[in-house]
Amino acid sequence: MKLTHLLLFLGTFLALNPTTAQKQSLQPIMGQEYEKKIDNSLLKDDKLRIYFCGTGNPKVTMQDIRKPACLAILTKDDFFVIDAGEGTSQTLAKLGLPYPAIDKAFMTHWHSDHMAGLAALINNTWKDGRKTPFFVYGPYGVEQVVNGFNQAYQLDNLYRGINSSNGLDLSIGGGVPKLIDQKETPVKVYEQGNIELSAFVVDHPPVYPAIGYSLKYKGCHIVISGDTKVVETLAQASEDADVLINEALSDAIVDESISQFKKNPDFSEATKQKDITLAQDLQNYHSGTYALAKMAEQSKAKRLFLTHLTPAIFNTAEDKAKFTTNMDQYYKGPITVVDDGDSLLIESDGKGCKVQYIPVQQAAADKL
Ligand SMILES: [Zn+2]
Ligand SMILES: [Zn+2]
Repeated sequence: MKLTHLLLFLGTFLALNPTTAQKQSLQPIMGQEYEKKIDNSLLKDDKLRIYFCGTGNPKVTMQDIRKPACLAILTKDDFFVIDAGEGTSQTLAKLGLPYPAIDKAFMTHWHSDHMAGLAALINNTWKDGRKTPFFVYGPYGVEQVVNGFNQAYQLDNLYRGINSSNGLDLSIGGGVPKLIDQKETPVKVYEQGNIELSAFVVDHPPVYPAIGYSLKYKGCHIVISGDTKVVETLAQASEDADVLINEALSDAIVDESISQFKKNPDFSEATKQKDITLAQDLQNYHSGTYALAKMAEQSKAKRLFLTHLTPAIFNTAEDKAKFTTNMDQYYKGPITVVDDGDSLLIESDGKGCKVQYIPVQQAAADKL
């Protein structure tokens, strides 16, 4: 090969394979053109935002509509999740949220639909910009799960650390487990700025312990049930709550399904009995809508938001109406069945709590 040809060849090669410095300078250009915009200004705003980043359940066939359990809490200089089901990172990124700023997760229990996205979230925040350790707070089992994830991701962390042009810090690639010693009444587990988070034990057999969270923000009181049947500790924690975010199993749909199933001649009596028992069993470890409505009324919770929906219905008004049938007989406050991407904007002047529900479609329209 002549020298001129060699230089031409090398020139082409270098153009297609930029050096590390060139790669770094290309990133903003490529980012602007191809990546979804991340809104970092939200981290400078003192208001409290709660994002429903997963409103479904373990049923995989509905997860293109409703991802498994995920709730994201965002306020000034603080961003964390409560549970991280599969797809957590993708949903947060799709909403344009500054997910690399997430450095904490508060877990309710160790069912896969609440934690299958946790390792990916720890990894994604790290490789995309997190500069501080990622703490995972959770009940008994937190060390086993987080240390297990850390071990599984050890090779990835090593490869990325070596490959990285951004100086990834290997010491913060994994998560740091923080055991929560939950009690029947809420016990404070975290405090920063205007946020105070407490944990309390709920009832989700055979899982033990399973916990719910009570969030205080400038006099506003928000309760997050986790997975639980309706139980006294949840009722007590929900007293006078401005917002109750509760998992829900639709009694109306379960009842209707059972009655139709009983009439179906294609199944034997034994099969029917087995499946009916299975459906009724759900009520032993999830919040049936009627009992939940009664509890919310007695606790004087001001607003009820239903998530972790069973069944994981389509996001139509018709299905939501069916899901909540007869709840208004027991609870007089507003009931909202939320969808993935919906959010709450919470403000307070210290005297009263203002809660605005923002459906995902409206949020997207506001950005246009
Ligand atoms: Zn569960
Ligand atoms: Zn669950």
